[in-house]
Amino acid sequence: GHIGTKSTSFKDFLLKPELLQAIADAGFEHPSEVQQQCIPQANVGTDILCQAKSGMGKTAVYVISSLQTLDVNQEKPAVVVLAPTRELAYQIAQEFIRFKKYLKGARLALFVGGYPLQSDIEKIKDRKINIVVGTPGRMKALVQEKALDLSETKVFVIDECDKMLAPAEMRAEVQETFMATPQSKQVILVSATLPKDVLPICRRFLHTNHAHEIIVDNETTLSLEKLHQHYVKADESRKLIELNSLLDILQFNQVIVFVNTVARCGKLNEEMLAQNFPTIEINSAMDQVERLARYHQFKNFEKRILIATDLFGRGMDIERVNVVINYDCPRDSNTYLHRIARAGRFGAKGLAVTFLSNDHDSSTLNEVQDRFNISITSLPDEIDPSLY
Ligand code: ADP
Ligand code: MG
Repeated sequence: GHIGTKSTSFKDFLLKPELLQAIADAGFEHPSEVQQQCIPQANVGTDILCQAKSGMGKTAVYVISSLQTLDVNQEKPAVVVLAPTRELAYQIAQEFIRFKKYLKGARLALFVGGYPLQSDIEKIKDRKINIVVGTPGRMKALVQEKALDLSETKVFVIDECDKMLAPAEMRAEVQETFMATPQSKQVILVSATLPKDVLPICRRFLHTNHAHEIIVDNETTLSLEKLHQHYVKADESRKLIELNSLLDILQFNQVIVFVNTVARCGKLNEEMLAQNFPTIEINSAMDQVERLARYHQFKNFEKRILIATDLFGRGMDIERVNVVINYDCPRDSNTYLHRIARAGRFGAKGLAVTFLSNDHDSSTLNEVQDRFNISITSLPDEIDPSLY
């Protein structure tokens, strides 16, 4: 190439050969911007608070750096990762499995609610786990039971940190696990959104005198360029008809339809099934085995239309999803941003359509437009399928 031009490669990060091989196997050619900015810092043990837009590979930042620094001879948890939902924790565990495949001695366990606590306790005894991914409630329970010894933790990660630390109840659970780890660990916090009021709470978890705050994207660059955003005005009584016609018109690979409550999720799914749309639903009222089975059906492309609550609104990475429909307008601009980013992963194109049924919905969408400096227009009668 031209003198002075240089495209960063994963090789520049001086990673273990086992890791570089797994990265190549995953088909990652170049590190994304967030990976370029954070992985070298994380590799030297710096605390990190990172905001970068959705779908740009924040998971790989902490998966790669924590595997890089992992001492595979350690027989107690060295890496602890917390995520807000069971499905997301599962997905993160899969990412660890993908990247640790050549690292002999890296042993991982997933600890989430909905399964018997006792089986987790036995897993810990038997398997000399050194990487733990979990949801806060189950992790807290394992710490309280004294089943999980976190006294040798080296890296503590909180994914979707604003979501995890803003609500007092979840924060208390996270805190419980955090307190069981040594003072001198590395802390990594990531999210696409870091609202001003949550930032000070996040900072309390860091070693403030040597933490790096890496804001790859601020409010004006958070929205995804190749994701086309529109709205449809539809009263509650017209939403079902509008959804039917959208699903008939749009050329989607996979679509997620978001609703605001568990009850509405079940109801809409029944109505869609009655009209012979092959939908599945996922929400927090289901038992965990069922939830994971449905996640797999969707992930494996056995079903193409998922009706979901905000359980699926954050972090979930399903490559083929190119359309998101907000059947119910989200309650705030953060929720909006996270939901629509389920389409357009890693810079892919996509389409997001939001139903507006009242003044409150309209004002939420105005807030979204002002905050992220974007324009969301009425859905045109025809939309070029090559745009999404
Ligand atoms: P985020 O947490 O920032 O929303 P994810 O970590 O879920 O994003 O990553 C989104 C998708 O991008 C995943 O499918 C992941 O495998 C993929 N990805 C991440 N980094 C790279 C890379 N450097 N090259 C190609 N694909 C990548
Ligand atoms: Mg993520």
